Amino acid sequence: AARRVAQMPPTIFAEMTALAQRHQAINLGQGFPDFSAPDDIKQAAMRAIAADCNQYAPGAGVSALRQALAGYYRRHYRLDFDPESEILACVGATEAIFAAMLGLLDPGDEVILFDPAYDSYRPAIAFAGGIARSLVLRPPDWRLAPERLEALVTPRTRMLLLNSPHNPTGKVFSREELELLAAFCRRYDLLVVTDEVYEHLCYDGARHLPLASLPGMAERVLTVSSLGKSFSVTGWKVGWAVGPAPLVDAVHKAKQFATFCGATPLQTAAAEALAVEDDYYRQLAEDYRRRRDFLCQALAAAGLKPFVPAGTYFVMADISASGFIDDRDFCRALPEKAGVAAIPASPFYADPEAGRRLVRFTFCKSWPLLEEAATRLRRYF
Ligand code: PMP
Ligand code: GLN
Repeated sequence: AARRVAQMPPTIFAEMTALAQRHQAINLGQGFPDFSAPDDIKQAAMRAIAADCNQYAPGAGVSALRQALAGYYRRHYRLDFDPESEILACVGATEAIFAAMLGLLDPGDEVILFDPAYDSYRPAIAFAGGIARSLVLRPPDWRLAPERLEALVTPRTRMLLLNSPHNPTGKVFSREELELLAAFCRRYDLLVVTDEVYEHLCYDGARHLPLASLPGMAERVLTVSSLGKSFSVTGWKVGWAVGPAPLVDAVHKAKQFATFCGATPLQTAAAEALAVEDDYYRQLAEDYRRRRDFLCQALAAAGLKPFVPAGTYFVMADISASGFIDDRDFCRALPEKAGVAAIPASPFYADPEAGRRLVRFTFCKSWPLLEEAATRLRRYF
């Protein structure tokens, strides 16, 4: 193997899902819903295939999807993007982020990000020759400490990589925090890549605000999102990047030689999905809020202290009272001993020590599974 991959282990999601399957455990690890996607969008995909939308799409994505995304951002956030030059469909948010690093970073450029950080960020930065500099967010509230942000800046700082709502903590960055970050990026003339894949999963009045919508930010922010979480179709891998034409063009240059284009019928169906009424998203969030409350109660009852998330479909729990002192040991034992799988937090940190007592559980599962998981956790702990 090449040196750039020699030290890379399989992702923690692959490892824990395999372990869950081996022990027939309830998989509260990897974040993918086990319930059905909305019927309308499944029908739309089948119609697209039947209508022979089965050849390569334009590299930037099928025109209907780019038009739909322009309408979507205008309607939801009053953001204007030109479908011809400012919208790029990608193979999930993952490809958008990967291509963004390759297209926007020079070797030695530094990227500020927040730990715990989604697992693909550091490898994507490293493949581009960039250097990740992280700021650790700490429980219970994962608050942003502005003075520690300033301390990370060097003459090579080029980009801020932000994820809100945030995986794995469930933090939704507040307007005040986003204003602070926006001022910081303007002051140091930084580019920003924002990963907003959980934009519709916000609870208890928390609201998602794209950083691109703050004053002076549209010109420096590349906004990334995808269809997977909002429509329970994580396997479709329909994602996108939107932003100023020069940024989108740079990302497209990298993307064109990775995949050239994404799946045409699924992009066609995505265009229809994005036209849904707001009520759809309200119901989705209300539904997830109930699952969140249930899982948090179940974790608390088992002595696994949950940090109740304001967004995403994940909850972090402190395992200190469980007798385990290591998150990986805990997650390697749990499927066999308790019949439940979860994700250790330490792989999300540059310094694994910071995540030793934290484990992530997902609540994007059907009610019978959540109920059975609650019973199993109570029995074991
Ligand atoms: N970013 C975050 C924060 C995620 O949680 C995920 C999904 N696990 C992704 C990106 C990947 O999204 P996609 O499946 O659209 O590539
Ligand atoms: N985003 C999902 C999660 O955080 C997993 C995606 C993946 O398996 N790469 O659980």
